[in-house]
Amino acid sequence: MKRILGHAAVWFPLLALLSCSQNDASISEPATSSSGDQIDLIVAGDYVVTMDEAATVHTGSAVAIDDGVIVAIGPAAEINDSYSARETLDGKNRIVMPGLVNGHSHAAMTLLRGVADDLALMDWLNNYIFPAEVEFVDPEFVRIGTELACWEMIRGGTTTFVDMYYYPDVIAEVVDSCGMRALISATVIDQRSPDAESAVDSIQKGSEFVKRWQGKNSRITPIFGPHANYTLNAEQLRATRDAAMELGAPISIHLSESPFEVQYSKDTYGTTSIELFESIGFFEGPTIAAHVVWPTEAEIPILAERKVGVIHNPTSNMKIASGIAPITDMLAAGVRVGLGTDGAASNNDLDLWEEMRLASFLQKVEQMNPEVLSATTVLRMATSGGATAIGLGDIIGSLEVGKRADLIQVAFDDVHHVPTYDVVSHLVYVNDEQDVASVVVDGRVLMHDGDMLTIDTERVAAEAKALAAKIQSALAERNRK
Ligand SMILES: [Zn+2]
Repeated sequence: MKRILGHAAVWFPLLALLSCSQNDASISEPATSSSGDQIDLIVAGDYVVTMDEAATVHTGSAVAIDDGVIVAIGPAAEINDSYSARETLDGKNRIVMPGLVNGHSHAAMTLLRGVADDLALMDWLNNYIFPAEVEFVDPEFVRIGTELACWEMIRGGTTTFVDMYYYPDVIAEVVDSCGMRALISATVIDQRSPDAESAVDSIQKGSEFVKRWQGKNSRITPIFGPHANYTLNAEQLRATRDAAMELGAPISIHLSESPFEVQYSKDTYGTTSIELFESIGFFEGPTIAAHVVWPTEAEIPILAERKVGVIHNPTSNMKIASGIAPITDMLAAGVRVGLGTDGAASNNDLDLWEEMRLASFLQKVEQMNPEVLSATTVLRMATSGGATAIGLGDIIGSLEVGKRADLIQVAFDDVHHVPTYDVVSHLVYVNDEQDVASVVVDGRVLMHDGDMLTIDTERVAAEAKALAAKIQSALAERNRK
């Protein structure tokens, strides 16, 4: 007999079952109702890695999605029996899991990928990146660069990102059209930048951006992005927080990234970076702090208490030689920690699978202890932990009934996945971004079996190449002078 399930009727019994299920799907008798069997989408998998509180992994299961929300998770046969979906993503040789959360990026910097490598942070920023940005970054640069980044992130299974760059309206328009979820920062910086003249100007423009986008698209959260404590003084940092508080907007910032930054803070204010921020009340509102490589022992509890979301960017920290962040100490202290790629000019890609591996290996080798930062822990940092760190833990980051349907299918039939003893081990230690088959955000399929559905791949690649050629010839011209 075909069971017909109503959404409201099925949510709560399934939630109860999910919270106690351990391994293979044991949702035996979903609640029945008299209507609502027609849903939008079913995504099936040989494994469904939920990343719920217990890190439950179901086998031979499927996720039922309607109106952008997960309405049921259960054995594939049962879901197929209970629902009639307009579209189904077949589960053979597929792992279903939450989409990845990239907690720190400068998306449009894909266009500066490889423009200046092998340099220290301040040399890289002051002598290469800031001048190149003032010269080349305009709305068209941001549109093409962000779309290129979104292509790369969707291709690699990232469904949400936190961005900090210039012309945030353009970033928001690209996110709106490509279907991803994002927190988009208006950059606040006290120097001439591509879209502002000063701190005051950038705070003003940031406020206008936040007002324009608040409540406009449920996938897009406009926020403020004060750059760092060495590009803004304490008063300007506090003014940015005031503007953010007034509008109820979170903040994303670089924090305690390099020894330079910490020394600058000591020299200027007589205190380390995080203690400075605490002293000016900067953490009074939601804060996403990128890097946090150099917190002191006294600063880590401040981050936990203030619920600061720390975003670990291991590749960028290694490449710029910023240091090794004390991730295990922060996790042990209850700090919310997620993962990020940083911009493609300091990475040089946007591959969170690589960040997961490097995050784990860096802690292991630094502490000479292979037991720290397990596969499950870093997978959590890239999914539910990252979602919590950026303030979206209640709506995304795990596959649970009632959450928004941001999920991916990973193909594991390639020879490099043979044999598969432990699916989480494979996701973290074997998987590459090319193994991601399909991507769903808010219930909408953005990529299906490798086919990009919301971005014209050839157009974006051609536009990016053409713009990069212009930048390259301008740089060559400048070098000849
Ligand atoms: Zn950054």
